[in-house]
Amino acid sequence: MQGAYFAIGTNAAVTAYNAQGEDGSFTEVTVENNDPLTRLATELKQEQGAPWYYADFSAVRKDSNWGKLLSQTWSMTSLNVGVSILNTGRIVPEKAYDGMIVFDTVRRYFEYKGYDVNYVSNFTDVDDKIIKKAIEEGVSSDEISKRYIAECKKDMEGMNVKPATTHPLATEEIGGMIEMIGALIEKGYAYEKNGTVYFRTRKFPDYGKLSHKNLDDLRSGERSLLVTGEDEKEDPLDFVLWKPKKEGEPSWESPWSDGRPGWHIECSEMSKKYLGEQIDIHAGGEDLVFPHHENEIAQSEAANGKEFAKYWMHNAFLNIDNRKMSKSLGNFRTVREISEQFDLQVLRFFMLSAHYRSPLNFSADLMDASKTGLERIINAADHLKFLTGNAKAEKMTEEEADAYAKTEEYVKAFETAMEDDFNTADAVAAVFDLVKYSNTTANADSSREYLENLRSLLTKLTDVLGLIVERKEEMLDADIEKLIEERQAARKAKDFARADEIRGELLKKGIILKDTREGVQWKRA
Ligand SMILES: [Zn+2]
Repeated sequence: MQGAYFAIGTNAAVTAYNAQGEDGSFTEVTVENNDPLTRLATELKQEQGAPWYYADFSAVRKDSNWGKLLSQTWSMTSLNVGVSILNTGRIVPEKAYDGMIVFDTVRRYFEYKGYDVNYVSNFTDVDDKIIKKAIEEGVSSDEISKRYIAECKKDMEGMNVKPATTHPLATEEIGGMIEMIGALIEKGYAYEKNGTVYFRTRKFPDYGKLSHKNLDDLRSGERSLLVTGEDEKEDPLDFVLWKPKKEGEPSWESPWSDGRPGWHIECSEMSKKYLGEQIDIHAGGEDLVFPHHENEIAQSEAANGKEFAKYWMHNAFLNIDNRKMSKSLGNFRTVREISEQFDLQVLRFFMLSAHYRSPLNFSADLMDASKTGLERIINAADHLKFLTGNAKAEKMTEEEADAYAKTEEYVKAFETAMEDDFNTADAVAAVFDLVKYSNTTANADSSREYLENLRSLLTKLTDVLGLIVERKEEMLDADIEKLIEERQAARKAKDFARADEIRGELLKKGIILKDTREGVQWKRA
């Protein structure tokens, strides 16, 4: 049976719903056992075999209104300790990092609601792709991964993605991974063959619970799972936890061989170390559901004897001109390439204009429309700032107080949207309504207090979306030309760091450079 399940209630009374109706209507399900909520979730999951979700914790936190939150993908119970989020992060620069924007917004919303968020986003700084690239360029894989991470952080800044609480690096956690692999061997969940350690998939009966695959289905397709060199596995379904090094690869000592960990184990180890044995939300791209996240569950739950993540959030792919983004189609877009044409704030706004679970189509036309939309919000904030500077009266009149009280409606609409499985598209619509209201009620006769209230409310809501509404200081043409000249000189002197820095500086001020055969062209974003 398809469909999601969620529960609404307090610790005293819980009502469970089956959110199956296409029209959005919910069928009530009678639930006897209402305490604790997690048990309800588990029971629903077992009974219905469908993803479960949600509980309202208003009894625990009076200020929260979790009524409709998470109708589809996740769970959360450890309220008082805050929210822990793990975002699987591969640092492949060709990837558009689209999940980063979405999950940064999720984090910002929790913070807005007063939660302490422990957000961990790991960087895989050793994997086949990095090693391949290093060999191609004849440099160390360390050099490649450092470059990728630096680029990723630069893009994050451009997209106004907050740095995570912790950004662990795989290569700095190898000791912990070896320990975890050792524990899995001891418990019988893993075994070693000629220096390679495999996870014994069949020993973990829940395997496939996230991706809704069962072992027998997987078995029928097992031939394709047989990889050359891995034929020493006990079972084709087993996956690698540790592998011996090949010539020219970075390696670490271990009880089994000099080698390196498989990719999946790093997330299990890092999330345990930085977030504990159980995390609230595990986020990532939908392409990671199987096998990566499935394998993480198997490793973590086998090692810790606890449910790994209470809620899973997977974002859909970004499409380019209605086709799935892929290198083979030649339409792969990096954030870097996009940043050469558009302000990354526009990219962020564009991404949030759709629900994170629906595939989004990237096209220049839609980006232009997003630019106009974002501009409308910035104009409103800017206008309020201008009016504030010229306001004659200080305090709000009674009428203004009433008018300001009406904005509560937009805040409510915004929160309702965000608590409906992070419907950012509707949240953006609520911001537009507030903009319209501000444009029609604020004028040269408004008091400073009224104008400031409106502006700070607008800023508060847009900040949850990670949008900066402060207008960038306009740079004079002459100043831009001067910096471009300096950049050219730096490049000539092979001071690429300085050249990059200047480019970044200009980008921050909304100036986009394009290197062409005829020289450097620039435009305002
Ligand atoms: Zn992961």
